[in-house]
Amino acid sequence: MNDICFFAREPIGSSTYPLPDQPVDIDKTLSTLKAVTNQKKSILYIHVPFCDQICSFCGFTRLIGKESMKDAYVNALIHEIRMYAQLEYIQSLGVSSVFLGGGTANSLSAKHLDTILASIKANFTLDIDCQITCEGTPQNFTEDRIEVLKRHNVSRVSAGIQTFNKEIRTEHLRMNYGKYELLGHIENIRKHFSDFNIDMIYNFPDQTDTIWDDDLNTAIGSGATHLTIYPLVLLEGTAFYSDYVKKQKYPAPDHEREIALFKHTVNTLRNTAYEKYSVNDWAFPQHESRYITLDAESIDVIGLGAVAHGYLGGMVYKNIQSPKEYIDFISRKSYLPISRQRYLSERDKMDRHMVMGLRLDNLDLSSFERTYGRKAQDVYAAQIADMCESGYLKLRDDHLVFTDEGLVWANNVRSYFEREKVSCVGYSDTTGIGQSGKDHYGEIAMHKA
Ligand code: SF4
Repeated sequence: MNDICFFAREPIGSSTYPLPDQPVDIDKTLSTLKAVTNQKKSILYIHVPFCDQICSFCGFTRLIGKESMKDAYVNALIHEIRMYAQLEYIQSLGVSSVFLGGGTANSLSAKHLDTILASIKANFTLDIDCQITCEGTPQNFTEDRIEVLKRHNVSRVSAGIQTFNKEIRTEHLRMNYGKYELLGHIENIRKHFSDFNIDMIYNFPDQTDTIWDDDLNTAIGSGATHLTIYPLVLLEGTAFYSDYVKKQKYPAPDHEREIALFKHTVNTLRNTAYEKYSVNDWAFPQHESRYITLDAESIDVIGLGAVAHGYLGGMVYKNIQSPKEYIDFISRKSYLPISRQRYLSERDKMDRHMVMGLRLDNLDLSSFERTYGRKAQDVYAAQIADMCESGYLKLRDDHLVFTDEGLVWANNVRSYFEREKVSCVGYSDTTGIGQSGKDHYGEIAMHKA
């Protein structure tokens, strides 16, 4: 047994594992996807890379798209949907969760959203109770877009707020609107959707305890059934990274403060109807994001659009990153726009099961044994013993459960089960944070030295 003490909190864990690190063998891919599967559940993720504005902290693959480019992108997406729909593997797969993400999915017009959603319905086998989520800015959930979303059975929306504080939004984030305008937009969402998430970020510069309490209490009082709450991460290539790390115009986010704010958040939300169920997510009972819970089961993911990641037939893959190259590729060639892939060995799949599964605060290990015929407690005996003895996890019957201290270090715990230390930040479509991509505090310290 090793006594493990983590020093630098990993702000973002791997959103896919292992990484697709091999060149594409298109013949092998097509042959894999010609086989019929008996998997009944899958996730459909669609990446929309456009935003109305570029927020200073954001490292996602996103751009301010002209209408003509959005038209071309939606056309390419429809083409990609149809290519997948012709494959026997996809035809035999049920879809339990659809997620339109980005970027800002609702920066597309009502007409674009209508086209995409109609195409999804026509080309995939959606479960009767499939949870369909559309992500976006609160102000873009306009009446015409909402009409389209409702008509296509979108049951859930997710709105990026980050903070309600107008000064921080203006000075640091380059985001429009203050608290009362945002609450007006949220009220509009609430009128139409009984299920909605808001995203919040803690540890912004100038975010005092009072400001964070106000943010948190406003989010709690907003009627949101789900809260996703992240720490601020300085992502390379963003205005934040440049201002805070390179130019040192402002003090960089403080590690100890991040931990204190996280603990305060956990304690505050424990006294509400929200239940914490994953590393960054709280939900009312029965209002969890199926995209998150199913992804944690390491089931198939049909990832479409520029930079989307997927997992099909035991293969992880990543699509062409640049939206422009993605559009060009699809217009020139009529095969899947995959840029990198990797076929997983049996051991890779087991590792993926653990790394993805530990996104949940309580991981049921019985599905591991059902899938692989071996107990996770045997395959990962050393790692589980290290994490339990060091006070991060508890083994209760067939469940691995995070302790309170483990919740703080959850992404480090997940990494402990990664045999390959990945050299990119967890979000699959971000630009990365420095050399290691994992330890952004280390990176800040390096620049400060
Ligand atoms: S935070 Fe959201 S809206 Fe802002 S640039 Fe990033 S993806 Fe776009």
